[in-house]
Amino acid sequence: MSPLPGSARVVVVGAGIVGNGVACHLARLGWTDIVQLDKGPLPNPGGSTGHASNFIYPVDHSREMTALTLDSVRQYKELGVLTECGGIEVARTEERMEELRRRMASAKSWGVEPVSLVTPAEIKELVPFIDESVIIGGFHSPGVAVVDSLRAGTLMREEAQASGALTVVANVEVTAIGAERGRVTSVSTTAGDIETDTVVIAAGVWSPLLARMAGASIPLTPAVHQMIDIGPVPRFENAKAAIEYPIVRDMDANMYERQDGRGLEVGSYAHRPILHDPAEIPSIEESALSPTEMPFTEDDFVEQMEHALELMPEIVGDESVGVKYAINGLLSLTPDGLPLLGETPEVRGLWSAAAVWVKEGPGVARGVAEWMTHGEPEIDLQASDIARFYPCQKTVAHVRSRAAEGFNKTYGIVHPGEQWETSRGIRLSPFHARERELDAVFFEAAGWERPHWYASNEPLLEEYDGRVNRREAEWDARWWSPIINAEHLAMRDRAAIFDLTAFCIFDVIGPGALATVQRVAMRQCDVPVGRVIYTPVLTPRGGFRSDLTIMRLDHETFRVVTGGAHGMADMKWFADHLPEDGTAQVHDLTSAWCTVGLWGPRARDILSGLSSADISNEGFPFARCREIEAAGLPVLTSRISYVGDLGWELYVPIEQGARLWDAVWEEGRPHGLIPAGIGVYGTTGRLEKGYRAFGFELDGEYDVVEAGMAWGKVKDEDFVGREAHLRQRESDPAAVMCTLTVDDHTSMSGVARYMLGREPVVTPDGAPLLDAKGRRSFVTSAGAGPSVGKHLLMAYLPPEHAREGERLAVEYMHERYPVTVAVAGSTPIFDPENTRIRS
Ligand SMILES: Cc1cc2nc3c(=O)[nH]c(=O)nc-3n(C[C@H](O)[C@H](O)[C@H](O)COP(=O)(O)OP(=O)(O)OC[C@H]3O[C@@H](n4cnc5c(N)ncnc54)[C@H](O)[C@@H]3O)c2cc1C
Repeated sequence: MSPLPGSARVVVVGAGIVGNGVACHLARLGWTDIVQLDKGPLPNPGGSTGHASNFIYPVDHSREMTALTLDSVRQYKELGVLTECGGIEVARTEERMEELRRRMASAKSWGVEPVSLVTPAEIKELVPFIDESVIIGGFHSPGVAVVDSLRAGTLMREEAQASGALTVVANVEVTAIGAERGRVTSVSTTAGDIETDTVVIAAGVWSPLLARMAGASIPLTPAVHQMIDIGPVPRFENAKAAIEYPIVRDMDANMYERQDGRGLEVGSYAHRPILHDPAEIPSIEESALSPTEMPFTEDDFVEQMEHALELMPEIVGDESVGVKYAINGLLSLTPDGLPLLGETPEVRGLWSAAAVWVKEGPGVARGVAEWMTHGEPEIDLQASDIARFYPCQKTVAHVRSRAAEGFNKTYGIVHPGEQWETSRGIRLSPFHARERELDAVFFEAAGWERPHWYASNEPLLEEYDGRVNRREAEWDARWWSPIINAEHLAMRDRAAIFDLTAFCIFDVIGPGALATVQRVAMRQCDVPVGRVIYTPVLTPRGGFRSDLTIMRLDHETFRVVTGGAHGMADMKWFADHLPEDGTAQVHDLTSAWCTVGLWGPRARDILSGLSSADISNEGFPFARCREIEAAGLPVLTSRISYVGDLGWELYVPIEQGARLWDAVWEEGRPHGLIPAGIGVYGTTGRLEKGYRAFGFELDGEYDVVEAGMAWGKVKDEDFVGREAHLRQRESDPAAVMCTLTVDDHTSMSGVARYMLGREPVVTPDGAPLLDAKGRRSFVTSAGAGPSVGKHLLMAYLPPEHAREGERLAVEYMHERYPVTVAVAGSTPIFDPENTRIRS
């Protein structure tokens, strides 16, 4: 083994599937002086990769995870370590069959084919040892595969070593990571120190310990996933390969069964969550097998054996078949189930490639290496950006409670609107008590409790009877209420008050502030004080890094207001672009300010009752902000709208929020003011106006021209993504953002169905729509448009289909529904002239 170099361009910690992949891809991208360390021996140093079941199911409801998995499959194939065996997710319940129909839609949206729904008899033909009487159907993916992840890792490592770029040192433990002034400086190990300014933590379940060494956080917890191997199985006696039958996922039992040579592996996500502290993981010397193969706790598997017996009695019920191997294997769980990727917000040069499975390992590795090299990966990884968490989401208690709750959902039926039950009530706005009195139904956003609708608005259903659709199918109506649509209509008729405190708010201040915001924002920020700028923020390649608003409060103060979910990543992006000379800083104000939204035709009447300031259209035009005195408080008031009506965002320090709310409420009631939830703000109001949302319509894989947001001239000043953006403006877009309406909701069973988002948009006869960049059309957002009386869908369509009046279809739960393109581009379907917001 090589001696430890004294310095390195980059140190990769970990030689599991992820660390090996990162080292290989960095070398492919031209990095040299890469040092890879592992505390264990090679090729199996004792991490989770060494005992993985190594199978890959490509279809996931997440586009990002599916893309990473497909890229990994491609890489495993190229390495020659992949065996396609097929896989079947079986259903024991009708509810699961519905979920499998939903999987068909995801497969079509993300282009994973072929897949099919199969009957119990067809499953029996593929898996003859199954008892088909306990199941009612299944979802067959012939592309399901098994890989040799240790071999893949070895080949990737060896490739990088052969190129001369990589030095691998095994049996060496990292004991400290040095950081000064928020930057990585060194790595200390049991064999000496290495000077370096870049470290990649690919240390699996140990990653939190490594991050902590440098003063950063990788919020994951090691968790047990039980797996046993039984055999020898008489039916597999003559097995010639490790895998000859499709892998079965018994979804309703939260288990899987796969042939492994002459044995059968049975794994479970059904047992009680068993979480460990990373510091408690035994050393290699202390472990009977390996540190991540902990002693099997048999009691936790009793029920699973019964389920396995039901499904595969021929094998599991055969008394000659014994248990060969049984472990409490360790894997990583995160608070939201997604990986932890990218540079840590606390320490520059410290990268995380953690909470990654074998199935997406090489794809993640390529993405992280590209991100380190070019500033962005080809596959958009923003949903997994480690910078996404607020401090309160990184505590051990939060990570553990969400991991425990999420564990049994591994094979669960998770509704797109599903809310977490644990670790709630962490962030409460100053309006919370009032909202509770109004029977708000709270959803969580970035740790905040936000009203999604108000049960006290039920009487509005009667007022708007005939204009508010009920949803007949339980799935469509879950985490939803018709009250949202009634609140919407009351806002359009009168006015509504919203709690927008979940916004992430930060100031960029100092003599270098203008240069900073100019560099980050696409739109011109050198505007008079008092202007509000709504702007895309681009990646170097011209995709969306974010979209947000900036208020110029004075010459050297720019207040950035952005969505809660992505706010911390946005703040890091601005901080990353501060001038080296220290002439500007970023100040987080999220927990210092709260926001009330007031919109509707009566908004001006209400606000003028609270303030003597001139808030007429001339005195306070659209896209302006200024401090006014209202209700005796100094209120930063910004005239913009995300719901398409006249009104303002009202900002006050958090301790004055309750007073502001009460004042607006009392003044507004005689005008018919109602409280409205995020169901209106984020969905119905937004969709009627065709406003795009980051993480839905806007992400790194679509550009400003495609999104229909390239209005105005491009500013002369340089900004991230400018070159790419200019190029995109010169050519025709490969896709055009459109608003579609659903023409007929009736399913074959006669029940009206309402799409929720992410469904494939297809031709009337079911063919997928593919744009010139190979991207399929799918629903980016879906929801009611109560003022226009239609269910609205947004989708990028290839230009030849992006024509108003074009008839297409959307697939939902394995049925096809006719839709029409109502708008191609950014003109709103409601109030296309924008007279309301500018009145
Ligand atoms: C029973 C079981 C079955 C599974 N089956 C599948 C499956 O079928 N499909 C799938 O996709 N996923 C599966 N997984 C998940 C998968 O195994 C892991 O997610 C994946 O292997 C993690 O890879 P990694 O490279 O991040 O971590 P690891 O493989 O754990 O590698 C991390 C490395 O970091 C090293 N390290 C840690 N600390 C230090 C230090 N201080 N100094 C030096 N080195 C250090 C460790 O020695 C280790 O080698 C399974 C998990 C379990 C538990």
